[in-house]
Amino acid sequence: MTEVLPSYVQGAWWTPESDAGAGALIVRDASTGEEVTRVSSDGLDLAGALEYARTVGHASLGALTFHQRAVLLKQFALALTQRKDELYAISARTGATKADSWVDIDGGIGVLFAYSGKGRRELPNSQVYVDGPVEPLSKDGSFLGRHVFTRLPGVAVQINAFNFPVWGALEKFAPAFLAGMPTLVKPATPTGYLAEAFVRILVESDLLPDGSLQLVSGSVPTLFDELRLGDIVGFTGSASTAAGLRSRTPSGVRFTAETDSINASVLGPDATDGTPEFDAYVRQLVTEMTTKAGQKCTAIRRAIVPAASADAVVDAVRARIDAKVVLGDPRAEGVTMGPLVSLAQRDEVLRQVRALQDAGGRIVIGSPDVPAARGADDSMGSTDGAFIAPMLLRFDDADADAVHEVEAFGPVASLLTYSTPSEAAALVARGGGSLVTSVATHDRAFAAELMGGIAASNGRVLFLDRDDARSSTGHGSPMPGLVHGGPGRAGGGEELGGIRAVLHHMQRTAVQGSPDMLTALTGVWHAGATARDDGIHPFRKSLAQLQIGDRIASASREVTLDDIETFAHFTGDTFYAHMDEQAAAANPFFPGRVAHGYLLVSWAAGLFVDPEPGPVLANYGLENLRFITPVSPGDSIRVDLTAKQITPRETDEYGEVRWDAVIRNQNDDTVATYDVLTLVEKERSAA
Ligand code: NAP
Repeated sequence: MTEVLPSYVQGAWWTPESDAGAGALIVRDASTGEEVTRVSSDGLDLAGALEYARTVGHASLGALTFHQRAVLLKQFALALTQRKDELYAISARTGATKADSWVDIDGGIGVLFAYSGKGRRELPNSQVYVDGPVEPLSKDGSFLGRHVFTRLPGVAVQINAFNFPVWGALEKFAPAFLAGMPTLVKPATPTGYLAEAFVRILVESDLLPDGSLQLVSGSVPTLFDELRLGDIVGFTGSASTAAGLRSRTPSGVRFTAETDSINASVLGPDATDGTPEFDAYVRQLVTEMTTKAGQKCTAIRRAIVPAASADAVVDAVRARIDAKVVLGDPRAEGVTMGPLVSLAQRDEVLRQVRALQDAGGRIVIGSPDVPAARGADDSMGSTDGAFIAPMLLRFDDADADAVHEVEAFGPVASLLTYSTPSEAAALVARGGGSLVTSVATHDRAFAAELMGGIAASNGRVLFLDRDDARSSTGHGSPMPGLVHGGPGRAGGGEELGGIRAVLHHMQRTAVQGSPDMLTALTGVWHAGATARDDGIHPFRKSLAQLQIGDRIASASREVTLDDIETFAHFTGDTFYAHMDEQAAAANPFFPGRVAHGYLLVSWAAGLFVDPEPGPVLANYGLENLRFITPVSPGDSIRVDLTAKQITPRETDEYGEVRWDAVIRNQNDDTVATYDVLTLVEKERSAA
């Protein structure tokens, strides 16, 4: 590793002049105290880096569609996977065990894969995301409204916490990149060298569009003076730092924070010693206390248990820690819990433990004394590392403020007791807004009561029982498809959460105009816009030939009573509305016997289909099907099928076509509306 950790800005690696480097912060190996690197951004042109993102980064990402960006995310994931051993080796220096590194490194790579898949499945292959239904704004349908999302014009600045230097950056980078926003990462100093390593792999992969990812190793003192409308800050770290930075954020700049959180885990009254829920609760509590040595924003800080189960929980947690936890240098064989990231962090955690003790917490497991730890050479004894033992404190007074407010960011949790569900819910809420609470219970009524009381003060709630204990992804694991963030003290952010995290990097705008104008602006055909029949059946056209608005208007077909009966007996659907004149007429919706909706949809397919082999490969579903006007024997129907949205796939020789289908009767009343979904070849000469 170089003496001063480089930054990657304006398309090149940068380190300070040697003089400036002399004043750099020294970063040490968490287990041995050896110097790993020095960190300084003295002299870095931050304004230039931000402008590079807003210009070069924006242009290169703007040349790509959502799907093209999504494909790149997968390639980034593969590039990191190929070289992840290097990242694991570096990660061990931060105090992370293999299992901890897996959460950070494989977890981060997993986010890239997840957003790659989501981007291609849930976003169009274009640059505009259409949100919600059409809003009709005039009686004759010539003036419509629609909401669209387009990317923000600025740069997504991430300021990250030290505990997950890879995952923490990638959870924000993936949705920003997919949205088309360039990112500037500012990792936390104690583990910034691991962030530098993953950025280096991506740079060396030659896959990054210019300006799409920059890294500043070191402080960013002028950052908040340089930000402007259209930029966005995603902060992860302590609530106190967040509060200071939020107040310095210029207006118009989005600032979201993922901050510390006094998360809870509640044991249900039914989950007594010996039940699968009790065991799952204890296993999870010990995992959360010791994974990453408890340096997790989502770790359980408050174990809230029925008074009658408190002693049993303490005994079971102690037994499990004794059996499972081996403290030491993560490079030593058999170590299951590493040190904290630095001696400064250890001192800070011990200070918070003292604050908890001062507020009435009694240490019932572990001790604040320097513990024996296994060295890399397998010798036991204290070392120069930031080791700390897992500790459980017990509070007799569950109302003590400190237990709901003090975050000891290490392997430390507190045990409180409750007697009624509403008391348990009130204790959870005392956290002032949390990232996650888990509830171990097999009693659905208790679970429902608790959810009503705690959901609004949590970003995520996990219910743990015998049915999901084995498959549960765990209290502490944010999932890419689910919201990560929480209200109040947790910061109010939603960095992850599927496509909603992508949209967080975009602006929603209400667009008003004619159907033709909205079709042109969104790439989605709107009812009332021009439709064309050029004499070639649209099913004979490949994606290269098909255009939005290509239409087939079918002939009409009469419906007879005989047809209805044949269909009823053939399918077994002899529902009275189709078979019994008197009963059907008594129904408020039907004039008498009516045709099956599915008969009409089947006939519509027969009316619009072009049967010979051609570019249309398959019908893979219908969406938004509504039956509007009943069809009686003697009525006739016809169908208009119009190409509504064309989505070529980046990695296949075909793509999706969404067709607008409208069935009408002989009076031009709308009988049914729906979207037909087909897979169509990209290239094929028209027959
Ligand atoms: P921190 O001290 O608040 O620092 C967080 C980040 O802010 C670091 O990158 C730090 O950079 C930067 N920073 C500090 N002052 C700044 C300033 N004036 N301008 C710009 N950036 C500034 O937090 P930490 O010690 O790294 O992380 C531990 C905390 O993060 C815990 O409280 C934990 O609960 C929380 N956390 C929350 C989540 C979540 O998702 N909710 C996830 C992980 C961690 P330097 O390191 O260079 O000072």
